[in-house]
Amino acid sequence: MKVGIMGGTFDPIHYGHLVTAEAARVELQLDEVVFVPTGDPPHKSYAVTEAKHRYLMTVLATLTNPYFSVSRVDMDREGKTYTIDTLRDLRISYGPEVEFYFITGADAILEILTWKNPEELLSACVFIAASRPGHSLERIQEVLGGLYTNNKDRIRLLQVPALAISSTDVRERVATRRPIRYLLPETVAYYIAKTGLYRDDWHTSGPVGHTTVEDPVTD
Ligand code: ATP
Ligand code: MG
Repeated sequence: MKVGIMGGTFDPIHYGHLVTAEAARVELQLDEVVFVPTGDPPHKSYAVTEAKHRYLMTVLATLTNPYFSVSRVDMDREGKTYTIDTLRDLRISYGPEVEFYFITGADAILEILTWKNPEELLSACVFIAASRPGHSLERIQEVLGGLYTNNKDRIRLLQVPALAISSTDVRERVATRRPIRYLLPETVAYYIAKTGLYRDDWHTSGPVGHTTVEDPVTD
């Protein structure tokens, strides 16, 4: 069995994530793709949205794809999220036979493999480095050097339909009341609107409207 792992902050999840995961699934003939939202950073250098919201938006966005699922392993673990811990926890639930494919965009592959136990990571899974507008995959050879040339079979480059969408841009659009329609699934847009996420006045006015949204998973 071949399982894709799509790690991310998903703050919020958007079509760039979904297109990348689906392209990897089809191209590498993965049996499923599990989305893994990161945990809450212990030292909040910037305000990442609470994990329960990011988890729910990821569930909403992946609902209609029977090959997609969402895992809580990273959000349920204390402390900072490291990919090596994600892989270890998923190995425990999936068993020893499964082959893991860790899916990343061009920006994230360089971060993960230049910072964290790269040799160990490369023996734990195959990396899929997907193209992403604004981030050149050509730098991979230059930045990773021998690590890349010696592990070419463990780092697969993947061209995905180019979508210049980022969560940062979505957050800024919401904060400045600009549209986010067609950048992410409608259900996620409704969730953002209903909870008041990313609105610059959120901390003073609270969630939009009179009702607070019940959290059916964690509350
Ligand atoms: P932020 O702007 O907050 O960093 P983001 O859009 O980069 O958000 P992340 O949650 O940081 O999203 O990314 C999760 C994974 O998805 C990373 O591997 C990232 O490279 C990849 N990714 C995100 N957006 C795209 C995109 N538009 N095309 C291809 N890959 C993407
Ligand atoms: Mg990012």
